[in-house]
Amino acid sequence: MSKRVIVVGAGAAGLMAAGRAAELGADVLLIEKMREAGKKILVSGKERCNLSNAAPIEKFLAHYGRQGQFLRNAYYRFFRDELLALLARYGVETQVERGGRIFPTSGEAAEVRNALVRYVTQHGAEIRYLTEVHRIWVEGGVVKGVLLWSGEQLPADAVIVTTGGASWQATGSTGDGYRMAQDVGHTVVPLRPALVPLTVENRAQAKELQGVSLRNSRCTFYVKKSKGKLKELRLPYPMPPTGEMLFTHFGVSGPMILTASLGVVDALRAGKEVILSIDLKPGMTDDQVQARLQREFERYSQRHLRRLLKGWVPTGLADVLARLSDIDASRPIHTIRAEERAHIARLLKDFRWQITGSLPLESGMVTAGGVALKEIDPITFASRNIEGLYFAGEVLDLAADTGGFNLQAAFSGGYLAGQDAAS
Ligand SMILES: Cc1cc2nc3c(=O)[nH]c(=O)nc-3n(C[C@H](O)[C@H](O)[C@H](O)COP(=O)(O)OP(=O)(O)OC[C@H]3O[C@@H](n4cnc5c(N)ncnc54)[C@H](O)[C@@H]3O)c2cc1C
Repeated sequence: MSKRVIVVGAGAAGLMAAGRAAELGADVLLIEKMREAGKKILVSGKERCNLSNAAPIEKFLAHYGRQGQFLRNAYYRFFRDELLALLARYGVETQVERGGRIFPTSGEAAEVRNALVRYVTQHGAEIRYLTEVHRIWVEGGVVKGVLLWSGEQLPADAVIVTTGGASWQATGSTGDGYRMAQDVGHTVVPLRPALVPLTVENRAQAKELQGVSLRNSRCTFYVKKSKGKLKELRLPYPMPPTGEMLFTHFGVSGPMILTASLGVVDALRAGKEVILSIDLKPGMTDDQVQARLQREFERYSQRHLRRLLKGWVPTGLADVLARLSDIDASRPIHTIRAEERAHIARLLKDFRWQITGSLPLESGMVTAGGVALKEIDPITFASRNIEGLYFAGEVLDLAADTGGFNLQAAFSGGYLAGQDAAS
């Protein structure tokens, strides 16, 4: 008789798990509380679904921070090439874009979701929508099935929990799996928002700059040590040397900020004071900025400071930089003293913001924290505590940088869990 496998949550990991288990002959029921599968796949990658990345394995693993090693074994078994081959079987062609990001060539996230639903149903698995799992049913350390909120008890030989994180809750991921895991004795590492915008102390100034985007800047985060000394904050994911960031009415956002955000959130949680230093001219040294500014001051001595600074920074920022240097931006250049000019030059290389926090968990693109990895077998994604129980995807204590890494982890984990559960 074939094994009865229940998969809880039809997101990226759950669709893969159900598809693979059914492909291997298991009798699979995929339970989804929403009206449709994969709502988070649909919003991913600005609705284009950045489903993986072309980076070589070592670089790939670095995008999960310290937790990356957990995925090494899994990726030797089911990685990018296997994922792309599977998607191609269901008609999804893909292309590599800037930063190695892999997208469906159609540019439609729905194509990926629909292909995975076909993978599940074509192998005979059943998907039950609008059905919400309440608890995992365990007896004597062995999984027996699941209990629905309706009171219905569904028996199974294996249960795979793929309920996702606790962010973007309108997609259905409301953190249920964390509670289910805790109820059966699993450790859940505290949840934190990752890939999340940050808030600053000087909100009025941020509001003034709202919408200003810096395309080529360098962001460095520092923590304050004793006597006001600054030490560079170690961040979980590799930061590009330069990149894009933007100001919002509450603080800062954009790719550079999102990449750094988990490290900042963790430092703030540890009670540290965090400072962001923005280098507005990363291609020039301090001396080069001073020298070029001096040259321009001599050449355009009749111009107003505002006009000159607009050649250096986006409109909007010029006035703020002048004010921070205690200079009226409408002053003619020839009235500005050398010390004042030097102050502007320093700001161009080190524009500081005190970070106070982040937007809430709901607003993070992913949820960091989750079911503790030490309690999960990294090859099969089986629980080490309860026989027949599996966890895959964002419900695990795994969170990566942007670039297709989160979805690849969900796809690979789901596939391997489904494979083991069926065997
Ligand atoms: C805006 C946005 C853009 C993103 N873009 C990208 C990207 O381009 N590339 C990338 O790699 N990552 C991206 N991510 C992250 C990525 O989408 C997630 O990490 C990934 O989808 C997680 O997959 P999952 O299967 O673990 O969980 P989910 O996809 O969240 O699926 C969980 C499913 O479980 C269901 N569920 C939950 N509880 C229950 C219950 N009690 N009973 C039944 N069903 C339940 C939910 O309804 C949901 O369908 C993005 C995230 C967001 C929010």
